[in-house]
Amino acid sequence: MIDKPRAQVSHSTAVECAALAPEYVRKIARYVPGKPVEELAREYDLDPTTIIKLASNENPRGPSPKALAAIATATAELTRYPDGNAFALKGALAAKFAIPPETIVLGNGSNDVLELVTHAFLRPGDRAVYAQHAFAVYPLATQARGAIGIEVPAKSFGHDLDAMRAAITAKTRVVFIANPNNPTGTWHRPDAIKGFIDSVPRNVLVVLDEAYNEYLVPADDAQATRWIADYPHLIVSRSFSKAYGLAALRVGYGVMDAAVADILNRVRQPFNVNALAQAAAIAALSDVDYVAESRRLNSEGVNQLDTGLLELGVTALPTHGNFLLINVGDGARVYEALLRQGVIVRPVGNYGLPQWLRVTVGLPAENKRFLAALAVALST
Ligand SMILES: *Cc1c(COP(=O)(O)O)cnc(C)c1O
Repeated sequence: MIDKPRAQVSHSTAVECAALAPEYVRKIARYVPGKPVEELAREYDLDPTTIIKLASNENPRGPSPKALAAIATATAELTRYPDGNAFALKGALAAKFAIPPETIVLGNGSNDVLELVTHAFLRPGDRAVYAQHAFAVYPLATQARGAIGIEVPAKSFGHDLDAMRAAITAKTRVVFIANPNNPTGTWHRPDAIKGFIDSVPRNVLVVLDEAYNEYLVPADDAQATRWIADYPHLIVSRSFSKAYGLAALRVGYGVMDAAVADILNRVRQPFNVNALAQAAAIAALSDVDYVAESRRLNSEGVNQLDTGLLELGVTALPTHGNFLLINVGDGARVYEALLRQGVIVRPVGNYGLPQWLRVTVGLPAENKRFLAALAVALST
């Protein structure tokens, strides 16, 4: 006999249960991810193979073939728990940056590292400082601890480092800096970032989020992992989701003083980075040519988009990442008009940028298709 489905919990009881969550949790604004291809195909009855997604700053080339091969090999051990201490991946990172493995904390995406920092260091009522138009996870992770986010007005769309320094008070525990920043693509020179870190009291942590580091031309790379020895209050976070093309696997890392790493490891889930992700990340790190080629293709793509946008009379901010922030007048309308043509980009109204859209640099044919779709969207 088949059991009858249980009667649903009455709506009013469910609402009461939700009310048990602290007010600061109930007030969190949901993170809005880029629209998945399958979702757009369902909603607009489009053939998914004709849709292009330039919405989440993924590497349009996909992962390195070496990473794919490592994943295939690692599937043989799927029944086992991963190495919770990720000995091999930490070893590969330690060798790459010439740092002790104890200074590395791995995350389920670098997003996890950001969350771990707020878990470990923010109490309700503490302050975290970040910039207007900075990455959306900083306010979310801050609010989830009942801490208070201090949003410092942007300067030319980027971080106003002097104003951020001035916003630090005795209640501040953490400062977030994204360099380059998402969604604006703005970037600060290494000496400016270093000067800022140096100016921050040592009892305030500075999280330097470098998710797009691998897209910088080598001359612009601050190599901030080298600063850890001088700055015990610095945490550098990096990602395998962007240039390394492994967004679906969820793996990132933070580099920091070993004592700070020890604290983050206490609040980390024991197996927060899965075995396929660890294997893929090691292989991806070893394929330096793949990353270099991805960087080269990206800068060509930026030029292609810049040229096309200029022809359309659309303003784009100069970018240091693999995406462009463009002013289309009415972001929500143009976003919809692009969706109807099977092109997914990112609206950024939730970043306080309702006139703008963020477009990830795609393959040459994708960039061309986007530009053609944008021309249609702007003329309708
Ligand atoms: C994409 C992104 C991240 C998070 O990437 P993960 O996939 O969690 O590694 C962090 N910071 C910025 C600025 C990003 O754009």
